[in-house]
Amino acid sequence: MLVVKKFGGSSVADKERIFNVAERVREEYHAGNEVVVVLSAMGKTTNELIEQARNINPRASRRELDMLLTCGEQMSVALMAMALQSMGVPAISLNAWQVAMHTSSAYGNARLKKIDTERIQAELESGKVVVITGFQGINKYDDYTTLGRGGSDTTAVALAAVLHADACEIYTDVEGVYTADPRIVPNARKLEEITYDEMLEMASLGAKVLHNRSVELAKKYGVQLVVCSSLTRAPGTVVKEVVNVEKMLVSGVAVDKNVSRIAVMGLNDVPGTAFKLFNLIYQKKINVDLIVQSVGYSGDKKDIAFTVAADRVEEVVSLLEQNKERLQFSSVEVSSDVAKISLVGSGIMSTPGMASKMFEALYDAGINTRMISTSEIKISVLVDERYAEKAMLAVHDKFELGD
Ligand code: ADP
Ligand code: ASP
Ligand code: MG
Repeated sequence: MLVVKKFGGSSVADKERIFNVAERVREEYHAGNEVVVVLSAMGKTTNELIEQARNINPRASRRELDMLLTCGEQMSVALMAMALQSMGVPAISLNAWQVAMHTSSAYGNARLKKIDTERIQAELESGKVVVITGFQGINKYDDYTTLGRGGSDTTAVALAAVLHADACEIYTDVEGVYTADPRIVPNARKLEEITYDEMLEMASLGAKVLHNRSVELAKKYGVQLVVCSSLTRAPGTVVKEVVNVEKMLVSGVAVDKNVSRIAVMGLNDVPGTAFKLFNLIYQKKINVDLIVQSVGYSGDKKDIAFTVAADRVEEVVSLLEQNKERLQFSSVEVSSDVAKISLVGSGIMSTPGMASKMFEALYDAGINTRMISTSEIKISVLVDERYAEKAMLAVHDKFELGD
């Protein structure tokens, strides 16, 4: 059996944790299995590296940032291979270059395109555990790239797909996927199983327990995932196409604080305004999420507000300012102190009253909603960031999702 095991940053944060992981890998290896280990950078290393870069140059290029960030994962894999070797387990570490994990060229947000398997296969055949850097790749310019924050999950799933692994296990610091982040909602319930689609929504809406691209890939290639703890032996959550357990209307509540709201005021209330605005943003490959448009006022004016990821705000604002004449608006307002709370579940569209129940929960908690968006499988609202936790608890409670 070939098993891909991915361990996140907190699972390899220090010497003790590294040996804890090494021990679990040793057990798998001694059970007669081929083992590929994918690792993230130790603890908060990636954040620290970003901080160091900011210190040197707040406008550091994305290329150089990736060059720096890939060091974090390289440290982890080398130390893990050393730990395994010290325990008598033959092991070798490989980075994205050595494996040859090809990505698109977008630094900081690259997509995996092709992974060469020859080197990995050869090392596995020679009886070694292969320890591979998560989160990184190489592009057509022979430069290092990274897959976006939390991207090691995606590396693991992609490797499981190309190697036709029999299992893909994602080890983290909680015991699986819960109805809400268990650090915010203490009575959140661990899910036995969840479908790819529901997990994809949860991940895209802020449940960072899995990188959203990893779920997309898992669905595309039919890779069944298990999310579980690196510290306990509790059974985790299985992510797959069809669940066996009774299907739930609501799978959970997610929060995303990494959003900002941009309001473009005083636009002309004529056809084509929204197109011109969003096409401009789209051309920079920036994702726009919630959108609201005001009713027209003063005869011929309107406002359009939308959300983007917090780290893209500056780009969008300067883009708007550069095109002020063409777009003809009066001003731009940015609010960064907002959070998006989402209710996710496959039963949302088919069950009447879900949205009103969610708004009632927020009303009971005295929380104002600043934007609303619904789809077949989710309802999202924007609230003041300081109420994010309170809103999570209120909605989770209202739908009786807890234990
Ligand atoms: P790793 O370093 O192992 O990749 P992450 O920090 O990326 O770990 O993801 C695990 C974290 O995801 C948990 O510590 C938890 O706080 C958070 N999380 C958010 N939403 C959920 C959820 N619905 N279920 C489980 N964990 C969640
Ligand atoms: N180390 C990277 C990050 O912190 C990748 C990951 O953890 O998956 O975002
Ligand atoms: Mg992660």
